[in-house]
Amino acid sequence: MPLDILTIGEALVEVMRAGVDQPLSRPGPFTGPYPSSAPFIFAVQAARLGMKTAAIGSVGQDAFGDCLLHQLRDDGVSTVGVSQHLDQPTGVAFVAYQADGSRSFVFSLGAGGHIKADMLLPELFDGLRCFHIMGSTLSMSAEVLEVCRQALDMAVAAGALISFDPNLRPELLPPDEARIAFADFIAAADVLLPTEAELLQLSDADNVERAVADLLAARPERLIVVTRGAQGCTVYSADDRVNVPGYKVEEVDPTGAGDGFDAAFLSELLAGKSPTAAARLANACGALAVGAKGPTSGAKSRAEVERFMLSQR
Ligand code: ATP
Ligand code: MG
Repeated sequence: MPLDILTIGEALVEVMRAGVDQPLSRPGPFTGPYPSSAPFIFAVQAARLGMKTAAIGSVGQDAFGDCLLHQLRDDGVSTVGVSQHLDQPTGVAFVAYQADGSRSFVFSLGAGGHIKADMLLPELFDGLRCFHIMGSTLSMSAEVLEVCRQALDMAVAAGALISFDPNLRPELLPPDEARIAFADFIAAADVLLPTEAELLQLSDADNVERAVADLLAARPERLIVVTRGAQGCTVYSADDRVNVPGYKVEEVDPTGAGDGFDAAFLSELLAGKSPTAAARLANACGALAVGAKGPTSGAKSRAEVERFMLSQR
């Protein structure tokens, strides 16, 4: 059966400091491994909302790879597109949280960076409804960018809805280079999911409204959803602009907010909901993600998300 949603990118597990303000530069306790990385958190959230989902990526033949694969299988995410690399270990992100809410990272990308053209299995694209890709993945290397371009072409040829979240990571790729690398994906996107800062960094415009207007002029039938952290989001289309307020939660762990939001917005659109209704559920998923510690622990089922939304009315 064709997939609802396909994504591609770096597979990682996350190992995090047990407490706050424990720097990565000193010995100290960790917890984990937790299945992680933006594309795989996205895939898990989409599957938990009932979408037939797959992610293309690579893990090592080791216990960390098994950890990620177990999670995907438990959630019903197809692992057909996940290859197991013989020579490299599974990618790991070590994360420390500071009391002010900021995070520091040590990345060991390992097999996670191994994304090759032979991993783009035609069966994943046949009849595909939606292809979602993130700028953070495109920022990994020129080779990965090229493979992702091929994946984009295959998704467009399949007639899939194309979704793009810039997820700018200046430490991987400076914004002026990202603009060039992301251009084909922005041009092809039916749904764009930037933050305000990303929108401005990727545009010639000096304000958000102007940047949105330029993107809509280039492709009038598209949706642009600007995420605004705790404030929620704004959904722009050629003839409408709707502010959708966020939900109140205590922020415990910001990892996965954008990914959960993206997964929920697309899942709802594919289920036939209006963009505003999709944004409401997406705000709830983003809030639940920041309210829970651990990359996928805030990704909830539809019933749990709807209960949370009712409780906040
Ligand atoms: P990420 O760091 O995961 O890439 P982002 O910066 O791309 O996140 P944000 O705008 O911070 O994206 O968050 C995405 C969505 O998650 C928001 O639109 C909102 O719905 C929800 N969200 C994020 N932070 C909070 C918060 N503190 N309280 C409630 N909801 C939040
Ligand atoms: Mg983001």
